[in-house]
This record gives sequence, C-alpha cells and structure tokens, in this order.
Amino acid sequence: MADTVVTRFAPSPTGFLHIGGARTALFNWLYARAKGGKMLLRIEDTDRARSTEPAVQAIIEGLDWLGLTADEPAVSQYARIERHRAVVEELLARGQAYRCYATQAELDEMREKARAEKRPPRYDGRWRDRNPNEAPPGVDPVIRLRAPLEGETVVDDLVQGKVRFPNKDLDDFVLLRSDGNPTYMLAVVVDDHDMGVTHIIRGDDHLTNAGRQTLIYKAMDWDIPVMAHIPLIHGPDGAKLSKRHGALGVEAYREMGYLPVALRNYLVRLGWAHGDEEIISTEKMIEWFDLDQINKGAARFDFKKLEALNGHWIRASSDEELVDMLMDSRDVLPNGEILKTADDATTRAKLTEAMPGLKERAKTLVELTDGAAFLFVSRPLPIEEKAETILADGGRDVVAALLPRFEAAESWDAASLEALVRAYAEEAGLKLGKAAQPLRAALTGRTTSPGVFDVLAVLGRDEALARLRDQAA
Ligand code: GLU
Repeated sequence: MADTVVTRFAPSPTGFLHIGGARTALFNWLYARAKGGKMLLRIEDTDRARSTEPAVQAIIEGLDWLGLTADEPAVSQYARIERHRAVVEELLARGQAYRCYATQAELDEMREKARAEKRPPRYDGRWRDRNPNEAPPGVDPVIRLRAPLEGETVVDDLVQGKVRFPNKDLDDFVLLRSDGNPTYMLAVVVDDHDMGVTHIIRGDDHLTNAGRQTLIYKAMDWDIPVMAHIPLIHGPDGAKLSKRHGALGVEAYREMGYLPVALRNYLVRLGWAHGDEEIISTEKMIEWFDLDQINKGAARFDFKKLEALNGHWIRASSDEELVDMLMDSRDVLPNGEILKTADDATTRAKLTEAMPGLKERAKTLVELTDGAAFLFVSRPLPIEEKAETILADGGRDVVAALLPRFEAAESWDAASLEALVRAYAEEAGLKLGKAAQPLRAALTGRTTSPGVFDVLAVLGRDEALARLRDQAA
C-alpha cells in the first residue's frame, strides 16, 4: 500500500496570510483531500525579529475562514531548534558536515574575488579537509554541508519537470550558524522529514532551495518527498503581483465581502485547470485536483473574474447561509453597522424575507448589505439625489394617487400589490415602470433595490404605508 499523502503549508509569520500563500495552502489542502491524506501546518518562526504572534493568529484565522484548516495543530519551527542541532551533530558524525572557521574577512575576500572573476559567489571549501586543530583561537565555527563537488543534483519536480543543478554551483552551504542557530535550509528539511511530509507543494521561488535541500536529504539517507513548485501569481499586466493587483491579506478579501467558496474557486483556477470548467464547487475540486494539471506559466490575477464568481456563489448560496454569513461578518464589513440597527432576531427575520430579492443583484456581501439597508433605516428616510429627482418630477403625485389604494388593500403580499399597481397604471395610462420608480424612491430613498413589490411585502403594511405617506404629502 502506498504511503498516506502528507502535505504541509509552511508560512513565515512575518505578515498576514496573503493571497499567494492562500493559494499554496489551497493546493496543499486539496491534494491531501483528493488523496485521502492530511495537510499539516508549520509556522516558520525562526526569524525571531520578524515573526509576530498576531501574524501567527492571522494566518490560522485566515485558513479557518477559507475552510482550509490544517488536520493537526500547528508546529512551531522555532520550538524544534534542539532537534535541528541534533541533526547537524549527526551529519558531523557521518562525515557529511564539517566545522568552518573562515573569518568574515576571509569570506568577504572570497566574494570579492568571485565578483572580479565574474563567478557567482561560492564558498571555496577551505575548511573542508583541514584539520580542526588548526582552528584560529576565538573564532566560533559555522557548520557546513560536505556537498558533492562533481556531478549534478536533480530535482524531479511534478510541475517543473527534471530540474538539474550542477553540484559545483551548490557549494558547502551553512547548516548551523556560529551562534548555534540552524539555517532555514536545514530546518525545513528536518521538519519535513520528521513530520512525515510526502509532498512538498510551494511557490517556485523555492525551486533553487529544493536543490540544496535534496543534498541534505541524501546526506541523512532520508527519503526525498515528491516536489511540486507552482508558478507565482502575477498581476493582470504580467508584472509581479502588487497591492493594487490584489496582493492583499486574506482578511482584506473578507472585508471586501468575498465568500470563502468563491475565493477557493477563484484561487484554484490560478494555475490549475480542469478542461474549461470555471465554476467549480469544492467537492468537484477535491474530485478533480491533481498536481500534474498545474500550469507551468505564471497565473494572472483578475479582480473582475473574482467578482463575477462571487456573484455566482452568492446566488448559489441558500438564504439561510447568506444571512449567517452577513451576521458573522458584521464586524468586518465596512457597512456592517447597518446590520446592527435592530435586534438580532428582527435583523435575521428581515434579511431572510428580503434575501431572495437581494441576492439576485449583489456581487459581494458589502453590496448585499448595502441592498438590505432600506430594511433598517428609520423614517423619515434619507432620499438620495436621483430618487429625489424622480419624486420631485411628478413622482409624489403617483405616490399620492396610489396611497388610498394601498390603504384599502385586503392582502399585503407581493402578487396582490403588483396587481393593484398594474390596475392603477393601466387606468392612469402609465407604463408600469413609471409607477414603480416613484414607489421605489419613496420606499427605499434610492433608485435601485430588489423588485418594488417584494420591497412593499418585506417592509410590511404599516412601515410601507408610513414611508409612502411621508412622500405623498
Ligand atoms: N516559509 C517559506 C515561505 O513562507 C516556505 C518554505 C517552504 O514551503 O518550504 O515562503
């Protein structure tokens, strides 16, 4: 039986979970789900100066919100420092690593020389075979890998194919610094090995690291995980993704009112495709996802597409789900205050009733909240400029003419109210729209809203009549 798939997401907590990281997490999560395995989370917090606890929290919360929660509690890389040191000791014992006493001045000289000769800067191996008895006093050594001098190291990458690194370019890189701290290169390998990671899926900015990391696996006689280095996300213009393009933290997408299901759908298409499917449910992603379908070219970020997908997923969500999402997002949406005007039970009831009409036109939860605003405003309503124009331009007369008919209405449901307005429009020789527009303006203070008969019904007889009276005068 093949080993169970274990993937991992390994962010550095120096900032929030950004959109590129979210896509890496999604691919790891999907691959684990698709293969019946698990995804682990490792917080790469060895850079003590730049790692922060709020960033760790934001990453975990961002993953939870996106529905990409890891299958086990997060592992702290920093907490494993003793284990990293122990592996370096073992590499020394195996003769696969050695102490290097080169001083800073010597290293600088090496770099200068390489520059003058137009070679990439490489450590020249001067302590590789030297007797440590010759160590100069007062120099704390670093520990370097005894890397092969000839031949090549091949990373057999599922996305990039066979990537060859001539060993002369990989040099004897540092595993343990002179202050006793392990390097990132070493820590990643030790952690991936100890966590049982079978598949490393990460951005292709780590591809050259993969060559060096392969040497560490070999020096320890450890199995090398399958690697898949995914192309980075670029802006719509092909340039590196910038803030303007959408290189924001995941929480910014939450504040803009995107749904986790829509963001997953959007992110999975950044670098992966299944035929020409665009709208992909999470169940389908899990069914279809595989690493050999990842594109080699950089993916391009496109806000328009994300927005269209979000609108689709809003319409595809049940009214209840949407009400829950709105209530849960009240504190993060910029217009969330609207949903705090009434008590929760009233707010939920009103939203639920109006949702069928509201969700048809909203592309984000912000727009959905905005569309629901008419439910929660108190009289006298603020009237937007365009709505005022309609009312001033004969609209108030229409409202005044309709008012007694509404007052006499026997039942207050959308269908009967529509019949009533149609009858009036016919008698008055007006197009239906000419009657509906002033009603909308009076009932919502705006020129856009769900269907006006739904608005009348959702507001209820008393509130609707009061709003109409306010404008009929
Ligand atoms: N901590 C690295 C990063 O945030 C990822 C390392 C890896 O995936 O191996 O870019």
